[in-house]
Amino acid sequence: MSRPKPCEAVKVVVRCRPFNRREETMDNDNILEVNSELGQITLRNPRASPEELMKSFTFDAVYDFESKQSDIYDDTVRPLVDSVLQGFNGTIFAYGQTGTGKTYTMLGMPTDNERGIIPNSFNHIFTQISRSQNQQYLVRASYLEIYREEVRDLLCKDKKLDLKENPDSGVYVKDLSSVVTKNVMELEHVMNIGDESRSVGFTNMNERSSRSHAIFMITVECSEKGADGEDHIRVGKLNMVDLAGSERQSKTGAKGERLKEATKINLSLSALGNVISALVDGKSTHIPYRDSKLTRLLQDSLGGNAKTVMVATLGPASKHYEESLTTLRYANRAK
Ligand code: ADP
Ligand code: MG
Repeated sequence: MSRPKPCEAVKVVVRCRPFNRREETMDNDNILEVNSELGQITLRNPRASPEELMKSFTFDAVYDFESKQSDIYDDTVRPLVDSVLQGFNGTIFAYGQTGTGKTYTMLGMPTDNERGIIPNSFNHIFTQISRSQNQQYLVRASYLEIYREEVRDLLCKDKKLDLKENPDSGVYVKDLSSVVTKNVMELEHVMNIGDESRSVGFTNMNERSSRSHAIFMITVECSEKGADGEDHIRVGKLNMVDLAGSERQSKTGAKGERLKEATKINLSLSALGNVISALVDGKSTHIPYRDSKLTRLLQDSLGGNAKTVMVATLGPASKHYEESLTTLRYANRAK
C-alpha cells in the first residue's frame, strides 16, 4: 500500500464565523479579509503601526462567514471519510477560541442545511454502504470526552476510563461503550445521548466544552469475499474532535484548581500541535504522542496512512485580534 504524500495526509483549513449580535452592537471592526480562491486570510492588527498592520497566511482552504456547512463537508471532509470507508483511519479536529464556531462546525444545528460535520458524516457513511454490493459492513460508535487528562465515556453515565496499551491493537480505552448502529437514526441517537451528558454538571454547555475535548468515534468494518473465496476484512476509524477552547488561560484569571485544569488544557493542545507539526515536517524521527492523553489516544489515527483535517475557527472582531493571531499561528505550524 502506498503512503499518501505528506501534503495529502494533513489538511489545514480556516473557517471564519459571522459577527454575532453583541459584537455588532458594540461597534467592533472586522479585522479579517479572506481570499477563498488563494486560500489566504489576512488579519489586520487594530493597534499596530502601518508597517506591521497586516499578517497573511495561506492554508489548504479558507472559508469566510458566508460559507455553508455543506461546502466544508464536500471539499474538505468527504475525501477523508471516503478513505475511512476504504479501511484507513482519519481524524478531524476543530480548534479555536471558545465562541468561534467549533461546535457549530462539528455538530451544527438540527435543521437540514445547518447540520455539521458529525451528522453529515452519518448520512455519507450510510449512503455509501447502501450503494455497496458485495460488501458487508459493521458500524460502531463511541463518544468520549477528555477532561482534566481523564477519559470519560459520554454514553455510560460519565464513567471514568483508563487508556491501555496492547502490543497488537496499540492504545485503546478500556471498557469504552461501543454501540453497533445500523442506520443514520441510530448514529444520531448515540450523538444525542452523548451531547446530553456533555452538558451535565456545569452551569452551561460552553463552560464544560471550553475545558474538555469531545471525541466522536466511528469504526467501520467491511468484509468482502476475495477472488480466493476468503473473507477479507478492513477496518477504518473516524475520529471527530471538538477540542477545548484554545484561549490563553492566564487571561481568564483562573486560580487554584481552575489554573491546574487550565494548564492541562494548554498542555494537551500544545502536545497536539507538536505531534502534527512533527508529522508534517516529515524529518522528525520521534513523534511525541505520549505527551498527552489526547495524542496517545489518537496515535493510530495521526500519521502513517491516516488522514488528518484541522479546521481552525475564528471570529471577525477586532477585540479578539491576539487570540485570532495565535490560532492562525497554531494552524500554520500544522500545515
Ligand atoms: P465554540 O464551540 O467554538 O465555543 P460555537 O460553535 O458554540 O463556538 O459558536 C458560538 C456561536 O456562534 C453559536 O451561537 C453559533 O451558533 C454561532 N456560530 C458559529 N459559527 C457560525 C457560523 N459559521 N455561522 C453562523 N453562526 C455561527
Ligand atoms: Mg463548543
